[in-house]
Amino acid sequence: MSNPSLLILPGDGIGPEVMAEVRKVIDWFGTRGLTFDVSEDLVGGAAYDAHGTPLTDATMAKAQEVDAVLLGAVGGPKYDVLDFSVKPERGLLRLRKEMDLYANLRPAQCFDALADFSSLKKDVVAGLDIMIVRELTSGIYFGEPRGIIEEGNERVGINTQRYTESEIDRVARSAFELAMRRNKKLCSMEKANVMESGVLWREVVTEVGKDYPEVALSHMYADAGAMQLCRWPKQFDVIVTDNLFGDLLSDAAAMLTGSLGMLPSASLGAPMANGRPKALYEPVHGSAPDIAGQGKANPIACILSFAMALRYSFDQGDEATRVEKAVEKVLADGVRTADLLGEEGVTPVSTSEMGDAIVKALGASV
Ligand code: NAD
Repeated sequence: MSNPSLLILPGDGIGPEVMAEVRKVIDWFGTRGLTFDVSEDLVGGAAYDAHGTPLTDATMAKAQEVDAVLLGAVGGPKYDVLDFSVKPERGLLRLRKEMDLYANLRPAQCFDALADFSSLKKDVVAGLDIMIVRELTSGIYFGEPRGIIEEGNERVGINTQRYTESEIDRVARSAFELAMRRNKKLCSMEKANVMESGVLWREVVTEVGKDYPEVALSHMYADAGAMQLCRWPKQFDVIVTDNLFGDLLSDAAAMLTGSLGMLPSASLGAPMANGRPKALYEPVHGSAPDIAGQGKANPIACILSFAMALRYSFDQGDEATRVEKAVEKVLADGVRTADLLGEEGVTPVSTSEMGDAIVKALGASV
């Protein structure tokens, strides 16, 4: 059997720095007999500098072929002057669009050692481990009609929330599949009380739920969901919601847990011939131009994104847990990059030192 394939796109700013630490983790797995066919290519500003486009057709084709894509970050002030059509972010958007990645997975996981970083009380967030599944390719960000029109003597801004049954069905299935791998608990959020698209959303999710009788399905209005996320987030396990509500709820949930440098994500599409979903993994953070090139970036978000790839693309759930436990151990030992400083008298480690500490903890785990 051939090795699982992974396309690495480090991108811009701190992207290549954090990706170098992921490479150490991949190499460590290689020494244990879990080998990946890794290829690397350019995306974003780096691709624009080399080819005049933020994503070449050849790279796009490669992304369609591999088992998973891992991206660092794109963008930076140098590229702000570029035309919209070739801005670094267009490379990422093209990947998401052409791979048709409709389910965006955003975990909110609070490592005990960092519980003090949350703006909420420690007991509310310590041990938190929830997953928000956001529909990513439809809804109000894409619906027609849209625009700003003249009406009488004033202008009107228009956006349209539009969901087809099949769009709801497929993202609901992703969420149920995820719930089956976790605690078999799914909460669907919409506003069926005031939106027809919400009524349809609730009906379709309920229908899909019949195929997953083991999963306890509940429904909540998205505004109540926002309140409950802040009040007692541990009541949730998997949440599924539309593009707009998911955008807001996943950002809010992510911040329950502290630093941007800690947050991984996955975007999944339809199953490929091998049964695994098309997949792009990336940290939530951007290219952080303010700290790029200084060895200050926290590589954990990118390393945890690779852990998600292990779990969702490579059927290596135990090894994904091993990586997460190694991160937990390093944090419990007090190892901190600059973004995680809070306690007095702690000297920050560099990006590379954090990567080394995680690899060392991996080594100690076997
Ligand atoms: P950003 O996420 O790059 O940075 C926000 C703040 O968080 C900065 O102070 C940064 O230093 C800090 N930070 C981010 N990641 C960190 C890490 N791993 N370790 C330590 N600190 C970290 O967001 P921004 O400043 O709004 O955007 C900068 C550039 O990144 C822009 O060009 C933007 O378009 C782009 N961007 C790209 C993505 C992506 O590639 N997915 C996402 C967001 C922003």
